[in-house]
Amino acid sequence: MSKYDFKSIEAKWQKYWEANKSFKAERDTSKKKYYLLEMFPYPSGRIHMGHVRNYAIGDAVARFMRMRGLNVLHPIGWDAFGLPAENAAIQNNTHPAQWTKENITTMQAQLKSLGFSYDWDREIATCRPEYYRWNQWCFLKFLEKGLVYRKNSQVNWCESCQTVLANEQVIDECCWRCDGEVTQRFQEGWFLKITDYADRLLEGCKGLTKGWPEQVLTMQSNWIGKSYGAEVDFQVKGKDESIRVFTTRPDTLYGATFMVLAPEHPLTFVLSRGTEQAELVDDFIKNVKREDKISRTSEKGEKEGVFTGAYVVNPLNGEDIPVWSANFVLMDYGTGAIMSVPAHDQRDLDFARKYGLTVRVVIEPPEDSLDALTMTEAFSVDGTMVCSDSFDGLFGSEARRKVCDYLEEKKLGKSTVNYRLRDWGVSRQRYWGTPIPIVHCDDCGLIPVPENQLPVKLPLDVELGDRGRSPLTTLAEFIETECPKCNKPARRETDTLDTFVCSSWYFYRYTSPHNNRAAFDKYDADYWMPVDQYIGGIEHAILHLLYSRFFHLVFEDMGLVKSDEPFSNLLTQGMVIKDGAKMSKSKGNVVDPEEIIETHGADTARLFILFAAPPIKDLEWSSQGVEGCSRFLKRVWRIFEDFVEEIKTAKSVSEDYEAGAKELRELRRMAHVTIRRVTEDIQIRMQFNTAIAAIMELVNHLYSFRDEWTSLKEKSDEARAVLREAFDILILLLSPFAPHIAEEMWSRLGYKMSLGFVSWPVFNEVLTQTEEMLIVVQVNGKVRHRIMVPTSADEEAVKARVLDDPKIREQTKDKEVRKIIVVPGKLVNIVAK
Ligand SMILES: [Zn+2]
Ligand SMILES: [Zn+2]
Repeated sequence: MSKYDFKSIEAKWQKYWEANKSFKAERDTSKKKYYLLEMFPYPSGRIHMGHVRNYAIGDAVARFMRMRGLNVLHPIGWDAFGLPAENAAIQNNTHPAQWTKENITTMQAQLKSLGFSYDWDREIATCRPEYYRWNQWCFLKFLEKGLVYRKNSQVNWCESCQTVLANEQVIDECCWRCDGEVTQRFQEGWFLKITDYADRLLEGCKGLTKGWPEQVLTMQSNWIGKSYGAEVDFQVKGKDESIRVFTTRPDTLYGATFMVLAPEHPLTFVLSRGTEQAELVDDFIKNVKREDKISRTSEKGEKEGVFTGAYVVNPLNGEDIPVWSANFVLMDYGTGAIMSVPAHDQRDLDFARKYGLTVRVVIEPPEDSLDALTMTEAFSVDGTMVCSDSFDGLFGSEARRKVCDYLEEKKLGKSTVNYRLRDWGVSRQRYWGTPIPIVHCDDCGLIPVPENQLPVKLPLDVELGDRGRSPLTTLAEFIETECPKCNKPARRETDTLDTFVCSSWYFYRYTSPHNNRAAFDKYDADYWMPVDQYIGGIEHAILHLLYSRFFHLVFEDMGLVKSDEPFSNLLTQGMVIKDGAKMSKSKGNVVDPEEIIETHGADTARLFILFAAPPIKDLEWSSQGVEGCSRFLKRVWRIFEDFVEEIKTAKSVSEDYEAGAKELRELRRMAHVTIRRVTEDIQIRMQFNTAIAAIMELVNHLYSFRDEWTSLKEKSDEARAVLREAFDILILLLSPFAPHIAEEMWSRLGYKMSLGFVSWPVFNEVLTQTEEMLIVVQVNGKVRHRIMVPTSADEEAVKARVLDDPKIREQTKDKEVRKIIVVPGKLVNIVAK
């Protein structure tokens, strides 16, 4: 009997799969497709347990679907541009291209050693010109559609990464990548107009409720942040002039006790002329101009203001309210004028308290009341309108709608729709990324590089600057070029694209990865897209997943794709935890996947990861758990070894076969029940832990069967056939989780075809039913007995069986049975007096 030699078994099958291209996917319109995708990795150097978990989940599904007869596309590639490569290169005095290439080689080998069923022919790396050329093409197409613009604006700056970040990349005021502090600065840059798609991105969420986690959709909806508001006109007192303000809280209009203009607002100067305040206002404007805009609007900055001497009229209650000017209002946002409602806005309240301005409560919390004179915290959430004439008693969004209707009716303003979503800043000031295909010409302005000149190649022969300054900004060979329009000397854009552009459409590239005439082939994309199951971390709930949906919509408008959404189903797997914290180098609680593969094998690693927790839950690492899975596979191997010679030549059971002996009937039942449990756990619930537990029970049953087998009088052909069936089922069910050992056993049984091409077993409904079931028997509502009855027994038969039972006869002997209530499959209650 041979030992379970996982090393040679795993090496053997990995070689076999690679040599035979076992998982190569091809478009075949006669077959139903299934596109299974895990978020592609960043080539950081080595794979970690989080990767293994992500891919083990994906691979189990891919293998299962392949065996279910679907044409499965399961690709892998590398999100290869980005800062870590550049920073590591600076640190180790190497080149990002070199560093990335070496990492990809290492990680490819690691992934192969885990036996994932990828179509390696479709591998892509976004840092290769044949890929990023299509990033540039996308940029130009977006530009043609008016979805790209350049502007000087306030942007997020990460000092340690030395680059601008998109709003989505700032998490709790810190950089998503390095957790460093993010500050604001004004800078020129390129933007993609994702806001044009805000409404469609929001609407699309509704269609995803079946396949996406609710949490992710809520996060996206909140991020897009559609809100209704109003533009309201305030008449300037004594002048034929009005000031328009925007508010998201028209329900607080009655509480507007002053108005604030930006110091740059032309009316700040104009309104103060001829009043006693004129001189003070002039000084104030001068002083504010010296302050920078960032500190003016920051929460911590000191709020300064001055009364302009003028009043406006509140359009709802006709009240005169003073007009102030303050440093925290900028001309850049909205109209440069705001209505201040101090009771319901903290900044307004602080300002009112500082300058002794009126505070009036117009929204009350549900079970409380506010005191305008003493309150120090503004009440800024939804509540009930008070002190608001006929609007009193209205609540929240209904209140806002009613006020808006009134304003429109009286021509005092209009309702507006606003979004929290801002345009996506894609300019990055770093080197290791896709060059933006734009030329700056002194005469013609910003000129796109013609499509036939793509790719604009990232020069590789560069010295990386200190502290990450991009070498492109000083590299004459790169910068100096000709204007595509007038042919005069011109300069190339030196910003590179955010790497999230690369990942916004890579799943299309997989459908025709070698196409050199287009980003992707329409026929291939139409066949394979959308991705049927996408798997990745929750940290991309907004970032990557929102950007990809945006790209998809633009492609749809360009007529390039026909599905509504890029990802039909999304699974966000939990984290891998050890000693109570996420595995990370800084915490020193990392378990290296290679170590586990070395000691226990890839099958054990995969099995443990899928067995230890359901995919969406966090997984607590446990070395006992790993050892337990290792022992289980050895146990499978031993029982297989015990029987392999007996069953290798056994006949298969025919469809209408009915086993005679009870042991054989029970073994068949067990095998078919296991098919049902595993199939439903994967297909319906994606619960691999319970599926594996079911397989473990089947193995236990085989062990107890072995004990009976030795005492079986006649080891008939029939018995061998039933055993053979059970082992076939065991191997097939185990194969998505532990594919190497499964292939080995399968071939030892004499099968020639690799498991990827074998059909998933189908359970026989009749066989899965138990022959007997346990029934609770009550007498006058009290449990008196439990008895076994045949599953097939009808109500009358059950009654007869119960009344015939000696114990029940004893219980009812001096009584008259008046009624027998049967709850099928559960209990019988006898009413006797
Ligand atoms: Zn950073
Ligand atoms: Zn020109």
